[in-house]
Amino acid sequence: MDIVDLADRVAKGERRALARAITLVESARDDHKVQAAALLDQLPKDRQALRIGLSGTPGVGKSTFIESFGMMLVGQGLKVAVLAVDPSSTRSGGSILGDKTRMDRLSREPNAFIRPSPSQTHLGGVARRSREAVALCESAGFDVVLIETVGVGQSETVVAQMADIFLLLLAPAGGDELQGVKRGIMEIADIILINKADGDLKAAATRTCADYSGALRLLRKRQQDPNGYPKAMMVSALKEEGLNEVWSDLKALRDWRCAQGFWEATRAGQARYWFEEEVKNALLSQLETATARRALSVLGAQVTSGEKAPARAAQEFLIGLRHSDASKP
Ligand code: GDP
Repeated sequence: MDIVDLADRVAKGERRALARAITLVESARDDHKVQAAALLDQLPKDRQALRIGLSGTPGVGKSTFIESFGMMLVGQGLKVAVLAVDPSSTRSGGSILGDKTRMDRLSREPNAFIRPSPSQTHLGGVARRSREAVALCESAGFDVVLIETVGVGQSETVVAQMADIFLLLLAPAGGDELQGVKRGIMEIADIILINKADGDLKAAATRTCADYSGALRLLRKRQQDPNGYPKAMMVSALKEEGLNEVWSDLKALRDWRCAQGFWEATRAGQARYWFEEEVKNALLSQLETATARRALSVLGAQVTSGEKAPARAAQEFLIGLRHSDASKP
């Protein structure tokens, strides 16, 4: 594969080249990993997209929102990429972006790029590849990169580490209680969107929005933001209402953060996070080698039989690991 040529075509914004490049960074093959690293080195680093993380439980209207919102942005002459981080895709068989027909109109737009989620069980692996896919979309000149994830615990935290701004999509609640949304996710959300604020659901949406506005006021100490973020807003993805307001808010938040220096600081912090993740993953993968597994099993048996204390056995294991590592070419 001609990496220089591929990098060149990605930089020109060719969608097919971008798709191929993402396949390359998603590949688990060792030779592909080397090529992917070379590709990432080749690409322009001076382009910045607005990276928007988007989370919500299945059925809340994520794909409908992405389609409507994406179409609006494309209509304004912007280039929009959609990626997914979906740790559950292999387990449930229901990849959140596996079904391409979900974003029918957007997928036909020449200025849009939609990428189904990589099917990997291990969230760490998925996350890392998704982060590189985001970087590729940025190099390809996309103005907005939407990173979608389902609300299954850890994945939001990971997506927040690759997004500039994080949106949480919720449906109108029946009662007046908050929908069991974990405090952690509310803390990373910059804007909570109460979707389906239309027809019969409008009144419930208004109530839900007021509830969340109240809850967010209590959390707002997170940053010294005079504009009232994080905030809750109502939208109807289906009726395409409130989308312009969301976009204005996103731009206002971006401009304010840039002016304050928070924007660059956040990206720098994220780079640091990914560096540490890479180190952790590399260390964990050392436990997967045949030698390490054997040692774990032998020492594990000695601990079980009472022959060795757990701490002593762990020490021996780590010394052995260091030695086997040092003996590698
Ligand atoms: P996802 O699983 O989060 O991607 O949700 P979908 O976008 O597939 O939407 C789930 C269902 O909610 C579909 O039947 C949509 O038509 C419906 N839906 C999505 N957005 C809205 C909305 O703004 N208003 C109403 N009334 N229904 C919506």
